[in-house]
Amino acid sequence: MSAGGGVGGDAPRRERTGRRRITPRADVALMSGYHSPQIDVAVRLNTNEAPEPPPAQFVRELEAAIASIDLNRYPDRDARALREALAAEHAVDAEQVYCANGSNEVLQSLLLAYGGPGRCAAVFEPTYALHSHIARVTGTDVVEGERDDDLLIDERELARVLTAAGRAGESNPVVTFVCSPNNPTGRAEPRDTVERVLAAAPGIVVVDEAYAQFSPWSASELLADNPHLVVVRTFSKTWSLAALRLGYAIADAEVVDAMWRVTLPYHLDAVKQAAGVLALRHGGAVRERAARLTEERGRLSAALRTMAVEVYPSDANFILFRTTGRDAREVWRSLLKQSVLVRDVSAWPRLDGCLRVTVGTRAENDEFLGALAVALA
Ligand code: PMP
Repeated sequence: MSAGGGVGGDAPRRERTGRRRITPRADVALMSGYHSPQIDVAVRLNTNEAPEPPPAQFVRELEAAIASIDLNRYPDRDARALREALAAEHAVDAEQVYCANGSNEVLQSLLLAYGGPGRCAAVFEPTYALHSHIARVTGTDVVEGERDDDLLIDERELARVLTAAGRAGESNPVVTFVCSPNNPTGRAEPRDTVERVLAAAPGIVVVDEAYAQFSPWSASELLADNPHLVVVRTFSKTWSLAALRLGYAIADAEVVDAMWRVTLPYHLDAVKQAAGVLALRHGGAVRERAARLTEERGRLSAALRTMAVEVYPSDANFILFRTTGRDAREVWRSLLKQSVLVRDVSAWPRLDGCLRVTVGTRAENDEFLGALAVALA
């Protein structure tokens, strides 16, 4: 390329006379991103990942699959093989399966398709912060309900929230979020609560089941009778594949079709598609790991109950606890000084004094317990 070349190389260079300030959309300017700190520590128990890598056999199979990918070609735009494998897993049609780069992106597609100006989403706080965040990013208003003293969704609050959202238009809330098991509190909603939400909500009901494998039941049982139900799952937790970014939804084919309409072409890379198909062949190993983590969760909860903290029951791979009489932020800092990272949720609604710890390996959990004893001393 000649000096001063490029497109329109002979045109006079425009002088930089100063930066023009271009502001983002007013509501975006007010948003803060959602970030869990990524700090280098010995014991990382802050993002509910699986503590172990995926099975070695899976990794070998994935390596072989990657070697056979035509890297110069775009991936299958419809992710057909992956969707068929997921459909077989859940005994539904492939047209009922939508996949994306992590379940967060699945939720974003849903809100891009169904949310937007004049529409609102309902959430029950405290819950997974991304539900309201993604709603707002897509220009969808958020109506917040409050969980009861057991941190579950109660009938009266459900009615209040649906009525309040309905004032913004009769199909509102266009999306109602139920997180079960709920992050960061840990409990699964009882089946009759989800049935009540499905009966009362005028729009789509999303049951976010990121932690399904630890839950006593799954809302996927209710899909056949409820075309407005969307069950969202992820490979980031129990499947030990957080690095890959793969999540999916099971829903009515019409809802899935709407989600495809807002999806960028070739959004799901070929490695991820292959990994998802292969991972599903290792379901047995994953269930075994989930069972072991559930047992370990019991041991960790029991140990925490002997300490000066209030422990909440959990149906997930993490435990919420309140550092009664101690400043939670101080406890969090002391743990960090001992190279143990947990999630500080003490600034969330109704969770003052609370920290959330992911169930790790037995050794990691012991290190955490030792560090917590020091922090509380
Ligand atoms: N839903 C819930 C309830 C979660 O806790 C998380 C991860 N923290 C996600 C969705 C997002 O998972 P991913 O995007 O990794 O699939």
